[in-house]
Amino acid sequence: MWGTRLQLTVLIACAALWCAGNAAAAEIRAIKLSPEADHTRATFELSAQADYKLFAIANPDRIVVDVADSAFAPGLRLPEGSGVLKALRTGKHGNDGARVVFDLDESVQPKSFLLTPADGGGYRLVVDLYKKHKGAVKSAAALAAKPREVVIAIDAGHGGVDPGASGASGTQEKDITLAVARELKRQIDAQHGMHAVLTRDGDYFIPLAERYQKARNAKADLFVSVHADAYASGDARGSSVWMLSGRGATSEAARWLADRENRADLVGGVKLEDKDHTLAAVLLDLSQGATLEASGAIAQRVLRALGKIGPTHRGYVEKANFVVLRSPDVPSILVETAFITNPAEEKRLNNAAQRERLAGAILDGVRDYFRSVPPPGSWFAQAGKETGKEKPEPVATRRGTASAKVAVIADDDPDRAELLAHGPKS
Ligand SMILES: [Zn+2]
Repeated sequence: MWGTRLQLTVLIACAALWCAGNAAAAEIRAIKLSPEADHTRATFELSAQADYKLFAIANPDRIVVDVADSAFAPGLRLPEGSGVLKALRTGKHGNDGARVVFDLDESVQPKSFLLTPADGGGYRLVVDLYKKHKGAVKSAAALAAKPREVVIAIDAGHGGVDPGASGASGTQEKDITLAVARELKRQIDAQHGMHAVLTRDGDYFIPLAERYQKARNAKADLFVSVHADAYASGDARGSSVWMLSGRGATSEAARWLADRENRADLVGGVKLEDKDHTLAAVLLDLSQGATLEASGAIAQRVLRALGKIGPTHRGYVEKANFVVLRSPDVPSILVETAFITNPAEEKRLNNAAQRERLAGAILDGVRDYFRSVPPPGSWFAQAGKETGKEKPEPVATRRGTASAKVAVIADDDPDRAELLAHGPKS
């Protein structure tokens, strides 16, 4: 409202000047230059709105700005050249126009706009001179920077000589985990911006440390180990989701720092090898802290999603010193899909449609996380920017049957965890 009224005042003033006859409609009161990284900005301070024309001339490179019905203020001082702008010259354009010539270091892409008065200032004509070849490189790089897919490493627990737990009717955990892992991969690969890799795609044995190493080699954003639970009595039931316990993380950090081979490795994109011990410990700690935090957030979402399709064993994310979860820089969770020792759940695990639902729930939790916390450069980050719909929601407003609480109920003996034995947990 204020702007409109001022504009009207200016128009009346102009009309008066036109009536007066010979005076210029606008006065160029100042010209200022500000060099930026990729462009140089020239700002013309004007006493009134004015029409202007801008054009480029090559050999040598120049930009000419003609301002109609205007004149330079008496005593106007021109700035020294700066940025791509070597020098400025002024002259007259036609009978009643003012001309400014920018002598350039290189050819530029000019962009200009007129700013209407604000904060008591006058009209301003802004001319941005963008470096051409830098811009070209940037747009080529922008084209090359196609958003990457988020990589999920899926680990089918057990395999080969290690059958895992078994059910009353003879179902072996290693077969169930592989079937769920393959189904989860199928569903993930069908998603926009996601891609899955399997640590094993057959009935063979892989040492535990090799499983998470495979995830690190694949530059995975997440490691999901798939298991089926076991308990001495047949009535234990429900899905559960595990993450690494603090103790597990601490002992793993000590091992990484002690192990020369590991120290030569990259942790969170930082090479530890050439850092002194204290710095390496700090970097590892930071990386591990962020990894554990992400693991917890993902575990909660997956547990919540599993809780929508069936019972959960406990209402919270559990923690243990599982070897497969020990990547210092890849968020990792372990999903106990159901109790293979519970006859009803064994039946469920043997049903392809039920496995599809289980995999679907894991996918829901994982996708929900990457929508809320999109990794930089990922499709999720891009989609979030473009639609604005992928903004993080406060966790408190989310629906869910499982509580958001994380509690340590078991910090398994490392030897037991090493075997990933599925004994009693409480
Ligand atoms: Zn298992």
